[in-house]
Amino acid sequence: MLDIRDHESVTLFYMGRSPLGFLLYPVYAFLVGDTLIDTGTNRAGKEFLSALTGRKITKIVNTHHHEDHIGNNGDIQELFKIPIYAHSSALPYLENPRLNDLRFYQRVVWDWPKKSKGTAIASGIDAGSHHFEVINSPGHTDDHICLYEPDKKWLFTGDLFCGTTFIYLRKDENYSQILDTLKKLSQFEIETVFCNLKGAVKNGKEALLKKISKMEQLRDDVLKLRDKGLSPKRVRQEILGSEDSWNLITGGHYSKQNTIDSILSGKRPDRIT
Ligand SMILES: [Zn+2]
Repeated sequence: MLDIRDHESVTLFYMGRSPLGFLLYPVYAFLVGDTLIDTGTNRAGKEFLSALTGRKITKIVNTHHHEDHIGNNGDIQELFKIPIYAHSSALPYLENPRLNDLRFYQRVVWDWPKKSKGTAIASGIDAGSHHFEVINSPGHTDDHICLYEPDKKWLFTGDLFCGTTFIYLRKDENYSQILDTLKKLSQFEIETVFCNLKGAVKNGKEALLKKISKMEQLRDDVLKLRDKGLSPKRVRQEILGSEDSWNLITGGHYSKQNTIDSILSGKRPDRIT
């Protein structure tokens, strides 16, 4: 399935695998000027490539290496003969997507991308008449970048924002690092957030601040119960309730317990600055 819509001068491509008409975990990719920001899932590759044919595209920027962001890199690079820019730590995954050890649900929903050739992105990049500042934004992955367009006050957030609520965490995500990065991003003047999960989010700065506030509250609630002597599982049960289908479908890759455990561990891996 592929749906195409515009927000101001940004074209949004909403895509996903849709067996029997049921859409599985769709994602967005964006076209700004002559630049494609992420390439979605190859499960919608045919429709996406057909929709891109005839458009002017001179480069791709990937926000991070996950399979639903680089899914059509290979085919688009071959078709348009264009460079792909990403964080230097993402480049090995572009070259060899099998380095990303996909779980069963990820293979079913998004599948492995084809190989592509990337180049390390600099601190700024042009997209037609627009100029983006490239902001290192670790937390979801270490190689995650966001793109900020100061004239339009647009912020492209990859998988860092994903809505104002916070319940589930990926096993390899870091709660405090996501919070720190969101705080850094909230310093910018932002009118619209372009999120690969939610699409165009108006009042972007307010949305980021709302998420930050909720995450701080959740962290404080968790730490209070920890200080009362509750076990991590009891803390999860008290605050977020029982695990649900997300835990089941993803085999624990996304779970409520991951959120609690990450808050409690307070791990802060080396920052990418
Ligand atoms: Zn991701």
